[in-house]
Amino acid sequence: MDFKNKLKGCLVYGAIGDAIGYKYEGSLSTQNVDLNFDWIISDDTQLTLATCEAIFNVEEINPEKVAGKFLEWYTHRKLNGLGASTLKALRELQMGGHWALVGRSGEFAAGNGAAMRIAPLAFKQNIARETIKDICTITHKNDEAYTGALTIYYSVLNAKNGNWSGDTNLIDTFIDELPDTNVKDRLLTLNRLNDLSIARVGQMYKTSGYVADSVPFSIFAAQKINQLSAAEIFTELIKTGGDTDTICSMTGQIIGTLLGCDTLPPDWITKYDGIGIKPLVDSLVENWKE
Ligand SMILES: [Mg+2]
Repeated sequence: MDFKNKLKGCLVYGAIGDAIGYKYEGSLSTQNVDLNFDWIISDDTQLTLATCEAIFNVEEINPEKVAGKFLEWYTHRKLNGLGASTLKALRELQMGGHWALVGRSGEFAAGNGAAMRIAPLAFKQNIARETIKDICTITHKNDEAYTGALTIYYSVLNAKNGNWSGDTNLIDTFIDELPDTNVKDRLLTLNRLNDLSIARVGQMYKTSGYVADSVPFSIFAAQKINQLSAAEIFTELIKTGGDTDTICSMTGQIIGTLLGCDTLPPDWITKYDGIGIKPLVDSLVENWKE
């Protein structure tokens, strides 16, 4: 499968996961999940696309430029559903703060906001870990948030490179690369539970906006793609509740990279067109430089 099909798959399935999950964000647990409504995206997709705009045609990723794109989207009121860390960073950027100094640090910076927007970096060549850390730092100065972002980065990268083909071994492909953190511990725990359903694991480990709850759960769910359809995976994730838009978006980015955009069901193509990001996504993919 060609590179652009994978990149587009990542962005489109991520946006669909976001849109489907956004309706149910913060719900405790929902049994009646209906995916057929007018889809609206949130910050997960918006900040992923802002990241794309800052990196699609450059050889070297510049955190200042990425932060500048975030601020541009914020200033033009194109962001909704923002988390606290990201909102703080954006307000401080607006007041002239430096990208490396704005945003939250400490335990309250251990949210999903860095992981949810890191996927596009997996489609660039020769990314240093320091670059990934810098891009996280703009909004989240925290090792858990950074490890969550590394987890998504490696998952998308390995789906793109063919190092993962949809089986329940995605975690094995990158676990040794991660720093010792709660994110890594939870991944190791979930990696022993692959016989269980998404719903069952969701009951055992309640999801939240805490990155060690959300990112490993999103990976666990992505690993079911050879057994379940994308719609079934999103439905199971929503039933668990919590930060459903971000979790579905991250899972969508990973499975979309694996499946490619060609695999979208016809009814999803129509609904995706209605979100309104198609021209931007098409242009980014068309002009992307690895
Ligand atoms: Mg969101």
